[in-house]
Amino acid sequence: MIKTKKLNVSIGNKEILRDIDIEIPNGEIHAVMGPNGSGKSTLCHAIMGNPIFSSKGHIYLGDENISEFSEDERAKKGLFQSFQYPTGLPGVTLREFVTYINPNISLDEIEKLAKEYSVNDFLSRDVNIDLSGGEKKRSELFQLAIKDPKAILLDEIDSGLDIDAVKDVAKFIGAISTNENSILIVTHYSRILKYLEISKVHIIVDGKIILSGDSEIIEKIDSDGYSQFQEI
Ligand code: ADP
Ligand code: MG
Repeated sequence: MIKTKKLNVSIGNKEILRDIDIEIPNGEIHAVMGPNGSGKSTLCHAIMGNPIFSSKGHIYLGDENISEFSEDERAKKGLFQSFQYPTGLPGVTLREFVTYINPNISLDEIEKLAKEYSVNDFLSRDVNIDLSGGEKKRSELFQLAIKDPKAILLDEIDSGLDIDAVKDVAKFIGAISTNENSILIVTHYSRILKYLEISKVHIIVDGKIILSGDSEIIEKIDSDGYSQFQEI
């Protein structure tokens, strides 16, 4: 379970998020949607504990208040963030990297999962170097499957992908979702959400959640965009 309570986030003097309350129980996938610049990535960074942002309020992972924990400690507690723009790691192969993030996994298991996620061709290559957009996203999801975290933040995992790649990514997310983890998926397009079972959608505009509800909201966004919410 991941939960934020009155989470306020700023950078320097600039307030980015105000009073964000989100609760994602185990077994659920929630979507955070909103126009560009509304604060979606900042929400992921703040939950993960990125030190460039200053946060007030509370963040819980299960029963534990992790608000004061460093990014590293949060990762060790079972929080995982996939980035909108995955960073390259020159000199570290994908195989070495996943062995580092889960030292208990066997080489056989790595090979098996690599086949499932179609990343076996680049296991021996440096992490995220010279990969296409779709390959980088598959690599992120493969790392996720290896790590098997408790709470997962997926920031625009669908951006820049063609429709077949979006379907593939959705299939992998569906496979990763279990009754023992919770997933927050950030997107500004509804198309990936059609292939997933979404329990709740939260709309962020100008740093505030202006609407939370079931997946019917997605259809409203498809037909009328975000501007319909901006007067609320
Ligand atoms: P989204 O992911 O919804 O497009 P972001 O969370 O990236 O939005 O950005 C929200 C707001 O915070 C924007 O106005 C953006 O310019 C600002 N912002 C994000 N990161 C920084 C930063 N490192 N420094 C200053 N402003 C930032
Ligand atoms: Mg973003």
